[in-house]
Amino acid sequence: MTDTDLLVIGGGLAGHAAALEAAEFGASVLLVEKTAAVGGSTLQSSGSFAFAGTQAQRDAGFEDSPEEIRTDIVAASGGLADPALVSVYIEGQAQAYAWLKAHGVHFHPVTLSSNQAVPRTHATQPMQLMTALHAKVLADERIEFVDNAAARRLVVDPEGKVTGAVFETGQGNWEVRARRGVVLATGGFSQNAELIEKFAPRMARALKLGGSGNTGDGLLMAWKLGADMVDMAHVNGTFGISLNHYPDMRAPAAGEALLRLAIYRGGIAVNLEARRFADESISYKKLGEICLDQPRSIGFQIWDAKIMAQSVPAPTATDFEGALALGLVRRADSIHWLAQAVGLDPEILTGTVCRYNADVAEGRDSVFGRTSLGRGWGKLVPIDKPPFFIYPCTTGVLSTYCGVRVTPRMECVDVFGETIANLYAAGEIVGGFHGSGYMSGSSLSKSVIFGRVAARTALG
Ligand SMILES: Cc1cc2nc3c(=O)[nH]c(=O)nc-3n(C[C@H](O)[C@H](O)[C@H](O)COP(=O)(O)OP(=O)(O)OC[C@H]3O[C@@H](n4cnc5c(N)ncnc54)[C@H](O)[C@@H]3O)c2cc1C
Repeated sequence: MTDTDLLVIGGGLAGHAAALEAAEFGASVLLVEKTAAVGGSTLQSSGSFAFAGTQAQRDAGFEDSPEEIRTDIVAASGGLADPALVSVYIEGQAQAYAWLKAHGVHFHPVTLSSNQAVPRTHATQPMQLMTALHAKVLADERIEFVDNAAARRLVVDPEGKVTGAVFETGQGNWEVRARRGVVLATGGFSQNAELIEKFAPRMARALKLGGSGNTGDGLLMAWKLGADMVDMAHVNGTFGISLNHYPDMRAPAAGEALLRLAIYRGGIAVNLEARRFADESISYKKLGEICLDQPRSIGFQIWDAKIMAQSVPAPTATDFEGALALGLVRRADSIHWLAQAVGLDPEILTGTVCRYNADVAEGRDSVFGRTSLGRGWGKLVPIDKPPFFIYPCTTGVLSTYCGVRVTPRMECVDVFGETIANLYAAGEIVGGFHGSGYMSGSSLSKSVIFGRVAARTALG
């Protein structure tokens, strides 16, 4: 038996934020990770955070504000995002950005990504992000960190108050008693086939990505205590996941998931019939759904030298040169040869690109009505400057973005609307924030913001 003030279950971004915040309040903290390495899905991510009104945006000439980010989050959610949780994000986002920088996290230049009306992706290198935060955890004598221990059930007193948890370790079961509460920061459930089948059967054909430990353990433990769940019907895939070594269609292995989105720089997407299948400016979640319905669920992003020149060598979805170097992108001097490189019909692909270019010249997309690069931002560009590039990709469930209902103080709420005493949640396990869709970068930011709020509530 081990005693602590606050028990934080899950060593990803939300868990680190909660543990560090609690320690900064003077509490003793036990941070426990199931696998041998910290980072979960955070480490696999593109490292993009969404913040608004930062100096980095102003320096790049982008006008943005917390109210604009609110509008985009709510729009991306299909109007379903819980306004109270969105307000927590809005109120905490500037501080979270400052907090990350103060904890040694480095940010790259600001770029545009899905569902952002203004460029507000503040990219990090995920390994640098987690290494910096984990170093702070290890250096803080108020925090004890334990890995290779999986929480299996929560311990509850006769009044229903959560008093700790039982972990499975290589040496048997280990019980932890937490005086001030337990924070569930166990991430999503993309790696739990049974839960995906239960809540998102239409994602059967999508690749499943995310941290190997992300099997929904926290969700199940909270569910056992009667926790309510939100947004479970909205698990979605993301368009743009590399299909390594097409046409063998080897899915990326854990840790090498690659997301590239040339569509938001002006590229187009076609299917195996070499025809466009959507307005490419829409959210990559919606595109993901549409892509699953295409032949063999495959899409090809196509772009030219003008777009290639915008490649950003950071761990973002805009690192086109990096994808070319890895052999995930093919290059050719004509659309005809590009088609041949991946086995598409050259005549049809040439016709598709010619028609798109003619439409762009006339200022209208006669096929799908595309008017911008992404969510109203940026003018359409013709795909006409050789060399040309093609990237075979598909839809992947990266994250589940749904889960336990929480109050704005990150208290878990049961199916009758009552808080479960001493039980808090933060990060991807939380439902109610993303609704039916996600604005790029908001999940990492949310993990930091909600993790810090959960710790403050438990100790307040
Ligand atoms: C390929 C990819 C790209 C992405 N890109 C972005 C992006 O650029 N921007 C963005 O905002 N979001 C992105 N996301 C989503 C984002 O990475 C996650 O939503 C976010 O990292 C979740 O953080 P978290 O701390 O809640 O969970 P995680 O970082 O997944 O951490 C959860 C941790 O809990 C541990 N755990 C699970 N069960 C137990 C247990 N029983 N006991 C103890 N520990 C347990 C896990 O092993 C894991 O280490 C991406 C996701 C993927 C997969």
